Amino acid sequence: MSDTRVFHNFINGEWVEAKFRKTFENKNPADAREVLGIFQKSDPEDVKLAIDAAKEAYKKWRLVPAPKRAEIIFKVAEILVKKKENFARQMTAEMGKILKETRGDVQEAIDMSYYMAGEGRRQFGQTTPSELPDKFMMSLRQPLGVCAMITPWNFPMAIPSWKLMPALVLGNTVVFKPATDTPLSAVNLARVCDEAGVPPGVLNLVTGSGSAVGTPLMSSKDVKVVSFTGSTEVGRKVSQACAPDFRHVHLEMGGKNAIMVMDDAKVDLAVEGVLWGGFGTTGQRCTATSRVIVHKKVLKEFTQKYVERAKALKVGNGLDPEVEMGPSINQSQLDTVTEYVKIGIEEGAELLCGGKRLESELYKFGFFHQPTVFGNVDPKMRIAQEEIFGPVVSIIPCDNLEHAIQICNDTIYGLSASIYTSSIKSAFTAMRDTYTGIFYVNAPTIGAEVHLPFGGTNHTGNGHREAGTAALDVFSEWKAIYIDFSERLQKAQIDQIVE
Ligand code: NAD
Repeated sequence: MSDTRVFHNFINGEWVEAKFRKTFENKNPADAREVLGIFQKSDPEDVKLAIDAAKEAYKKWRLVPAPKRAEIIFKVAEILVKKKENFARQMTAEMGKILKETRGDVQEAIDMSYYMAGEGRRQFGQTTPSELPDKFMMSLRQPLGVCAMITPWNFPMAIPSWKLMPALVLGNTVVFKPATDTPLSAVNLARVCDEAGVPPGVLNLVTGSGSAVGTPLMSSKDVKVVSFTGSTEVGRKVSQACAPDFRHVHLEMGGKNAIMVMDDAKVDLAVEGVLWGGFGTTGQRCTATSRVIVHKKVLKEFTQKYVERAKALKVGNGLDPEVEMGPSINQSQLDTVTEYVKIGIEEGAELLCGGKRLESELYKFGFFHQPTVFGNVDPKMRIAQEEIFGPVVSIIPCDNLEHAIQICNDTIYGLSASIYTSSIKSAFTAMRDTYTGIFYVNAPTIGAEVHLPFGGTNHTGNGHREAGTAALDVFSEWKAIYIDFSERLQKAQIDQIVE
């Protein structure tokens, strides 16, 4: 243990120990004997220092011209490009998803950094004619101040970048609290920002638990917006903490995403899509396909082909290039998966494959579970309603498109949905009638790109969107400006100009 590297908080441009010098270990979910680093177990006192630093830094950062702020963000992207492979490997060791996917995670942070660097020269407002003569009107964005970012472990670099880059380019300062399972990727991102020239105090990183770091952070009156991605349960707490002072809240939460496979679908294509959507990131994506709603006419063919492919998936350490699915993130998540498998069986769903934790020599020190498929699932069953966040896919039979859409919408969530069909009519009808924030045609429920808005309806979100230009709305306020150069008092709505 003495050789294990110790990582620090990043406050006011310095890498510092937590005030009470408590630490925690970051372990590899593919082999929990491997400790990747020792991280600071921070307390509310550390959070306060970080908020104070961000508050102070805001005074200058907000006045740096946006195109200059953007140049620093562009450099962040350039450095990430160089370090991509190394960061991806560390991420796989830290949270388990396979290397191809962690490369994609870092790539998403690169894409977002380049994209938001471009916003340095946009951030367009409006100009519009006044109803009065000799009067000019425009609107512009202004930053908010200190932003809190609380993020999950499943996209340890992509998700923080979705929040960080728009916040910074708009002139805000940040206190970032990553998930306890992925502090290393957060440290890597903060180091890159430091190297790129983000000034001291503009980005502060505090590692530690939700209760000791997340709660005081979201509760601070000095924090103007809390941008949270994680479970609906914790998102509700964030919302409640901010409500008394009307502080802004941006929430991206759980999902129970469905793919609809129609009788005119290319079944083989659908099988591949549902496989990737269901078992990519070991089913631990907010957009993971956990329900497949299959037309009765193709149910038999789809099920047979799908189960065959699921059984053949190679599970193991994500650093092995042959491996197709990694472990669950930790013991507690693995326990949740086993518990839901039990629930599914008790509810009367048909276990078609998987259903067990992998415990042989190869797997026994990690949190591995077999890819699991349930057939004949009733839409009302708990496995079809609740977010499992693991490699468990439920096949739900349907009679027709209308029935499929009805099942698809019958959930408390509303993140992503998809249809496999050859019919334009079916595709457009489903696109219109599914109540989700994201919709795909002939592609799985996962795979968002950074320049379109990302987020969901119902219990998935609170009406905001991440990514795209929508992200700018989270981290800025509109200011409407009226400039009267008539040199007399003019009253809008009252003075009627008649020549
Ligand atoms: P989580 O809610 O347990 O934790 C998210 C973050 O909140 C972590 O940093 C955690 O430490 C912190 N936290 C936990 N309790 C807290 C508290 N009481 N006060 C303040 N902060 C607290 O979620 P998770 O397990 O890290 O991630 C999985 C969840 O995230 C799933 O529900 C998934 O759907 C969701 N998710 C959503 C999106 C999206 O964009 N909609 C993306 C990824 C993940």
